[in-house]
Amino acid sequence: MKLILLGPPGAGKGTQAQRLQESFGLVQLSTGDMLRAAVKAGTDIGKQAEAIMARGDMVPDAVVVGIIADRIAQPDAKNGYILDGFPRNVAQAEALDAMLAGKGDKLDAVVELEVDDKILLSRIETRAAQTVGGPRADDNAEALAKRLKVYHEQTAPLTAYYKSRGVLKGVDGMSDINDVTRQLEAVLGLTTKKGKLA
Ligand code: AMP
Repeated sequence: MKLILLGPPGAGKGTQAQRLQESFGLVQLSTGDMLRAAVKAGTDIGKQAEAIMARGDMVPDAVVVGIIADRIAQPDAKNGYILDGFPRNVAQAEALDAMLAGKGDKLDAVVELEVDDKILLSRIETRAAQTVGGPRADDNAEALAKRLKVYHEQTAPLTAYYKSRGVLKGVDGMSDINDVTRQLEAVLGLTTKKGKLA
């Protein structure tokens, strides 16, 4: 299964992707995590991305599209993956479609975690307090405001993009964490009873 989790910063995409990874063996592919690892390792991409990420802006499309193209070609992504934080605009979505079409492949589903802006700041504050090793450089009120602006201007249009392609599903991302997982499994037709894909 090839899946995209859409939703604003702090919606719970990473948490839910990890749960799907554990229960169903789908690989979580988070461009944010990959970029943070590149920053930590001091690679060229990391050096290019560090300041952009800290202020809540988007890393150039060519960089993230290249990262994802390499990553989905790895053997562990063969049986399915969850894209978390990618695509983030229509150009990236089109690049992904072209990438998949080139392999004779397509997305199975896009699930939007629906969360109101007003609860995101407190979620980000909680995450900042709980992150082992200290908060992310962009988990603060100023960078969040920028990330939300970017989300509404560039990422939110993906809802219409995927709706028109008939693959969009919505989940209430404001209910409790286990309930969100249950809703996700339900809309995706996954079952935990067997611990594998239905
Ligand atoms: P995230 O962990 O998904 O919240 O991403 C953290 C930051 O990494 C974002 O605010 C961007 O600066 C950068 N980033 C992650 N994914 C992308 C993407 N698909 N396109 C552009 N920038 C990205």
